[in-house]
Amino acid sequence: MLAPARATSAGHHITDDVDETRAARFQLIYTSTSTRTGETTEHEYPVRLEYAACHFGGVRPWFRCPACSERVGKLYLPPRRERFACRDCYDIGYTLSRRSGDPVKEAELRYRRAFAKADADDRRAHPNTEPYLPERPPGRPFDHHAELLEDVHDAHAEYHDALQEHLRSLDELLEKRAPQSV
Ligand SMILES: [Zn+2]
Repeated sequence: MLAPARATSAGHHITDDVDETRAARFQLIYTSTSTRTGETTEHEYPVRLEYAACHFGGVRPWFRCPACSERVGKLYLPPRRERFACRDCYDIGYTLSRRSGDPVKEAELRYRRAFAKADADDRRAHPNTEPYLPERPPGRPFDHHAELLEDVHDAHAEYHDALQEHLRSLDELLEKRAPQSV
């Protein structure tokens, strides 16, 4: 079961104020218990907050994902995981239909999956957070790890291509809309 961060009222408090009324971050404080060993771990780390004006007045608060820094509306703590992160970091809820139509996002998710597969700690780095490499878990043969790194590298190149393609199409759109010079 997924637990949105706002449901964990176990303990968070405001640590910083921007304009006296809005917090710039809050501190998540909770205890997790391993289902395997019964061992408990204390967690405490800040989550950055941002505010965006709404169309019809007021402001909407957003989280910055503690793992990838993306601006998101919700954070999740999947079973057997220790830290809150966004849905992309945990690859949650994306169906094929939802993915299709956004090649950049698809490439990003492929990269994140390849990264997590190679990384000792299952981290799902965003392709823009470089230089940053997956760490080899102890016990994994070097040549196997090299293959996984190769996958990460390929996925990164694909992400870069998808991004370039996207920027090209934006350029074309802008050119079409630009007023004709006389
Ligand atoms: Zn994230």
